[in-house]
Amino acid sequence: MFEFSSIEQYHAQLQEGKVTCLQAVEYYLQQARSRHSLNAFVEVFEDEALERAKQLDKKRKAGGAAGKLHGVVIGLKDVICYKDHKISAASAILKNFTSIYSATAVERLLAEEAIIIGNLNCDEFAMGSTNENSAYGKVLNALDETRVPGGSSGGSAVAVQAGLCMVSLGSDTGGSVRQPADFCGIIGLKPTYGRISRYGLIAYASSFDQIGIFGTAVSDIALLLEVMAGADEFDSTVSHKEVPAYSTQSISDKSNYRFAYFDTALNHPSLDPEISSSIKQKIGQLKEDGHEVSAVDFDLLDYVVPAYYVLTTAEASSNLSRYDGIKYGHRTEKKDIDLTEFYKLTRSEGFGKEVKRRIMLGTFVLSAGYYDAYFTRAQKVRQLLCDKTAEIFKSYDFIIMPTSPVTAFKAGEKMDNPIAMYLADIYTVMANLVGCPAISLPLFQHSNGMSFGLQVMANRFDEVSLLRVSNMLKP
Ligand code: GLN
Repeated sequence: MFEFSSIEQYHAQLQEGKVTCLQAVEYYLQQARSRHSLNAFVEVFEDEALERAKQLDKKRKAGGAAGKLHGVVIGLKDVICYKDHKISAASAILKNFTSIYSATAVERLLAEEAIIIGNLNCDEFAMGSTNENSAYGKVLNALDETRVPGGSSGGSAVAVQAGLCMVSLGSDTGGSVRQPADFCGIIGLKPTYGRISRYGLIAYASSFDQIGIFGTAVSDIALLLEVMAGADEFDSTVSHKEVPAYSTQSISDKSNYRFAYFDTALNHPSLDPEISSSIKQKIGQLKEDGHEVSAVDFDLLDYVVPAYYVLTTAEASSNLSRYDGIKYGHRTEKKDIDLTEFYKLTRSEGFGKEVKRRIMLGTFVLSAGYYDAYFTRAQKVRQLLCDKTAEIFKSYDFIIMPTSPVTAFKAGEKMDNPIAMYLADIYTVMANLVGCPAISLPLFQHSNGMSFGLQVMANRFDEVSLLRVSNMLKP
């Protein structure tokens, strides 16, 4: 039977002739069929993935140079464009819409000979923490099917967790890669804002959005990042900084790091006591191993969620104004109505409840009478956070925190209480507010049977150190 532990090991097996790309794809297609009830995929590109695998096998056997991701089977969150394939952001407003171009990240994966196996379920327009806000229905957590996989990239997390593909892409605006990785017991990386081009990523909140990576081996995450990162003429916000060779530079025997943590985070009333004690134990262990681990004053924690939800809903209300039924997507069938009524009906029919809530909230915080009270103040909080983190990273290499205050919620548990759901984003939104990279590493086991992670944040564009420490923490 096909077994996957890392891309490196898979490539070695291909070279030795022990396995073929075709066998790998057949295995994953079989897995996707047998775990269909998890609802991770929106669509599986079966014939196409088989065809590409055959071509890659042929090329390899003929001695052609192999790409860095030769035959690597990858799933894409349903917000990342892949030319001539359907994409909908799990929304009825985009049902049956076909991408007319591929995201830059996808182009780069394909150029290194990856195989795209399908589109993965998510929360509508990446808004949510449970994957329950999807036009395709909820996704089940394979560790415990009565629980959610997290969100918004729930399908991407479960696809890796349940072995339906080797690695997957998600998007992370406020934790949508790290939190589902935490809930599902896998690794999830959100790179620095601007490290990977957002061209072809459906926008939620443009100054926060970043494509992220799910996997089971740090080396795989490093390799995908290396392939996708870097300047892109189609995204003016992407960094022109040189892309380090993450896959080789992230391995190091350096053994002394400086970690900062916040007492306010580890003693927060919303934090599960077992998660708190596991992380405190980890801190003790790191100290014993010779690292410097210190508590740093941080009194902004209670402002991060409000600031995040004011700013992201504001950006979303603007970004989502393009779905008007005129240019593309769903349009109401009601006839003999004026233009305003046409917009209203189209958008009322096409958007789900959570997306509507956020568009209204965002429109409200941007309105003339309230702009200064909400939007301007949230921007000020964002600046304070940026200043504070810049200061911390002068003396420390990393900030460590939980990824989520609780393990995976029970399905439906938080659906009637959006505020409770938002508050559970307390540990993940900071990295997006300040733009720094952060990773969730599956290090712990809860007595309720669920896995949970340690979140590590590094300074902007210091993914090399982040991957190095990840290798140390999760060899
Ligand atoms: N849970 C957060 C939200 O609902 C994060 C979403 C995301 O990162 N896309 O906004």
